[in-house]
Amino acid sequence: MRPSKGTSKTKEGEIVSVVRFRLEPTKEQEQKLFRTFYLCRKLYNHALEERIIIYRENGVSIRYTDQQNRLPVWKQSQPEYKEVHSQVLQNVLQRLDQAFINFFEKRTRFPRFKNKFRYRSITYPQARLGYFHKDGYVSLPKIGLVRMIAHQPFDPTAVKIINVKFHDGKWYANLTYATESVPLITNTNNAVGIDLGLLSLIATSDGDFFANPKWLQKSEKRLKRKQRQLSRKKKGSNNREKAKHHLQAIHDHVANQRKDHLHKVSRSLVNRYDLICMEDLLVKGMMKNHRLAKSIANAGWGRLATYIEYKAKFVGKRVVKVPPHYTSQLCSGGCGTIVKKDLSVRIHKCPKCGLEIDRDTNAAINILRRGLEILRQAG
Ligand SMILES: [Zn+2]
Repeated sequence: MRPSKGTSKTKEGEIVSVVRFRLEPTKEQEQKLFRTFYLCRKLYNHALEERIIIYRENGVSIRYTDQQNRLPVWKQSQPEYKEVHSQVLQNVLQRLDQAFINFFEKRTRFPRFKNKFRYRSITYPQARLGYFHKDGYVSLPKIGLVRMIAHQPFDPTAVKIINVKFHDGKWYANLTYATESVPLITNTNNAVGIDLGLLSLIATSDGDFFANPKWLQKSEKRLKRKQRQLSRKKKGSNNREKAKHHLQAIHDHVANQRKDHLHKVSRSLVNRYDLICMEDLLVKGMMKNHRLAKSIANAGWGRLATYIEYKAKFVGKRVVKVPPHYTSQLCSGGCGTIVKKDLSVRIHKCPKCGLEIDRDTNAAINILRRGLEILRQAG
């Protein structure tokens, strides 16, 4: 079992502690908890089976988000799952995902189907202050107000995760909470400007480019091929239903690959820089230009900006958004010249100071300058 108290660091560097308290559920609450274990275990085994089948038939490994997206469908076909809190169900799929990660990183054997002796806990992954009551009770959604023996003081406002466990005939609550908040890094020396490009995903003021990867384009092609295959199958036939199911899985998979890539790019930027300047997105306005719309949607700019912002916030780094006017036309050489160019012109060539540079890098440098200026004015 987990120790009653411990400290560890999460992947992103936040300090967390776990404290364990005894729970004393009533007979009725106990029945509900066991019933919840049963339903969660059934979902776990179903999700494991689904991963195995899809891998065998398509050679594609589906993952957490793939399966989470289909939870509503599962709940519709199995109404008894209304008895279980939705976050608890999501956590079931997260556990399975972790089991696969452990396996792929060679820490454990291939995930096993669980019998009732191997599934004896549930987790509320997004606990809120409202769960805790002063008089020694914890309010577990869909279970009830359960007596909790807090044998030491703890800060209910910081609790992030509640894990309820049955072990050796006793009930426990493991509370995970953050113990340190992250101080803001105000350094401006290690700053970068990023331009959300069209040919590459982004260009930085340091002259780097992040591309949309080839394997992603490949996955998208495979998806289109599968869609064509489906349209050739007979309507209402068993084969068509099966193919539809597989297509949905592949579709989810590609969408997740896209997101994964954006996570990777945003993480790498936030790790590398203390201050990130980017354009205040005029995606809406640009969408009106039809030729551009497809590239913008593919590149997922809005999502990338969101990822950068929340990842930066998490580690105390800053993001400054700047008005995007003329960032691509203005010469970044410092001469102040506006060099007009349409989208087909890839190189910025300044007739005044002679600067010759990639057009997106030029824009990224302007974005950085403008960001620093905004900070200076803000004091
Ligand atoms: Zn110039």
